[in-house]
Amino acid sequence: MQTSKELKDWYLGERIKRTISALEKNGFGARYYPAAKDACEEILKLIPAGSKVGVGGSLTLEEIGLIERLDRREDITFLNPTKVLETETDLMTAMAKMLPIMREIYSCDLFLSGTNAVTEKGQLFNIDGNGNRVGAMFFGPQQVIVVAGYNKIVEDLDEAVRRVRHYAAPTDAKRIPVPTPCAETGVCVDCNSPARICNIFVTLHKRPMATQITVFLVGEELGL
Ligand code: SF4
Repeated sequence: MQTSKELKDWYLGERIKRTISALEKNGFGARYYPAAKDACEEILKLIPAGSKVGVGGSLTLEEIGLIERLDRREDITFLNPTKVLETETDLMTAMAKMLPIMREIYSCDLFLSGTNAVTEKGQLFNIDGNGNRVGAMFFGPQQVIVVAGYNKIVEDLDEAVRRVRHYAAPTDAKRIPVPTPCAETGVCVDCNSPARICNIFVTLHKRPMATQITVFLVGEELGL
């Protein structure tokens, strides 16, 4: 008899196969790495010396160790706007410092991002407060790599929206942190807060014409 772990692994494997096949049908590149560390090493190998690399705020990229590794590379220009938040606690001042970096990211060679959800239909779904992260996913950088743990896979766009509104956004609001109702209670009330992080909902149904996007799916739970 198969163990529960074997059955879970089988189910996950089938789900990942469906998602990769659908992503490829929609024009995205798609790869699977059982271990996050292997995905991280592979991405680092794909970045030649002299590259200009940008990132959107992503817990997933931090968790796989990529942000730290890129920070240490002296042979690339690394554009990481959220680094400003390490030394600047006032949100408005931080934003003024981050904006020029966010704008420069639109001209980078490679943009790295997590994603809020990947559907089994091969779509990428994301929310954003500013739009800098989702904007750079579909126009500007020559290449985009999106990293997603298996926990980001959802059946369809309805589930993607539910997942983001009721889980990912409140937990992300608490993480940043921003003064929104969900960061206090964990519940989305479709707020009018000036710090609202869900102003923009973007679905990439197919690969944008001018941008090469590759999704690195990872067999570990990553991000929110
Ligand atoms: S709309 Fe407001 S309350 Fe709802 S998840 Fe977004 S920031 Fe939180």
